[in-house]
Amino acid sequence: MRLPDKSGYFGHFGGKFIPETLSFCLKELEESYLKAGKDKGFKRELRSYLKEYAGRPTPLYFAKNLSKLLGIKVYFKREDLLHTGAHKINNSLGQAILARFMGKKRLIAETGAGQHGVSVATVASLFGFRCDIYMGQEDIERQKMNVLRMKVLGARIRPVGSGSKTLKDACNEAMRDWVTNVKDTYYLLGSTVGPHPYPLLVRDFQSIIGRETKKQIVVREKRLPDYLVACVGGGSNSLGLFHPFFHDKKVKFIGVEAAGLGLGNLHAASLLKGKVGVLHGAKSFVLQDRFGQIKNAHSVAAGLDYPGVGPEHAFYKQTKRARYVAVNDKGAIEGFRLLSEVEGIIPALEPSHAIYYLRTLAKTSRGSCVVVCLSGRGDKDLEIIQKYHR
Ligand SMILES: *Cc1c(COP(=O)(O)O)cnc(C)c1O
Repeated sequence: MRLPDKSGYFGHFGGKFIPETLSFCLKELEESYLKAGKDKGFKRELRSYLKEYAGRPTPLYFAKNLSKLLGIKVYFKREDLLHTGAHKINNSLGQAILARFMGKKRLIAETGAGQHGVSVATVASLFGFRCDIYMGQEDIERQKMNVLRMKVLGARIRPVGSGSKTLKDACNEAMRDWVTNVKDTYYLLGSTVGPHPYPLLVRDFQSIIGRETKKQIVVREKRLPDYLVACVGGGSNSLGLFHPFFHDKKVKFIGVEAAGLGLGNLHAASLLKGKVGVLHGAKSFVLQDRFGQIKNAHSVAAGLDYPGVGPEHAFYKQTKRARYVAVNDKGAIEGFRLLSEVEGIIPALEPSHAIYYLRTLAKTSRGSCVVVCLSGRGDKDLEIIQKYHR
């Protein structure tokens, strides 16, 4: 079984819920991606940039101190060591090289917290694309450092003042731009979301995480792990780790969503609290009120602040291939402190949710072997941490 199917469905989820004007853009993208997948030059170029520019393969690190403390064997897949400090560069490099392969001259993207925008601005600079990043005016105010990074890298910021002035509005503007300028423009989506073929394409480019992990863990342990644990925003670092183990039924997947402040309202936990609906062109679980209005997501980790989740996760949930849990802001801060103090690794707040969950897992699964995706480093989050007193 190869998922998604030809129409972009993972079981009941995914597809293309789009205005007619976008169907040409998506069709061209899909056909080019299939062609690139068979092209030796494309693959060679991607492999070379992942190695020489991004710093792959990343280590699989056995966390001895944390393992001893918790009574389980914990390994971290060190995506935090990549250039730009997170897994997002895997996808941005893949899609930028695809855009070149398609003969495009300009990259556009939308960004909320700015991390995806920075990663797109990076590859635009590297390959000489013109680059426009759509960002809500609210977010521009809140994310000054990332705005500055994008500007330094030569990207142009396009402020979006409509609607709630955040990610969803930026997304609409980027789509509009794409339809108008598709001849020379490539729309670079940042996670396993959006209409087909994006969830497929992003998952494939991130699957290098799981493929490397599989080889590395077998060398170390002579067997596969019992659990894979990763945080879930749109779902790309988690699917990157999980997907290559899909057919290894003994390996259990745990996706950790953000519960925000908690208080009974799981603020960014689309899989646990969302209902089936359509967001950004795909059918999946979506946070919405009883009238179907999309709710705003909230988490201390900006990268998990998204009211939807990739359709492949919706499928894993429905078929019980993966289990989903939620950790709140306070737990994430504790996870952040734990790894910093015990292993000398400062994690981003997004994977800190997954780190905190290890405490719970350790109680029921003593002695088991766990691989956690350390999706990014925490330098960007120090200011937020400072606000939390002990
Ligand atoms: C963006 C981001 C995430 C969340 O995105 P996914 O697509 O769910 O992986 C997680 N961790 C870090 C460090 C991020 O920058």
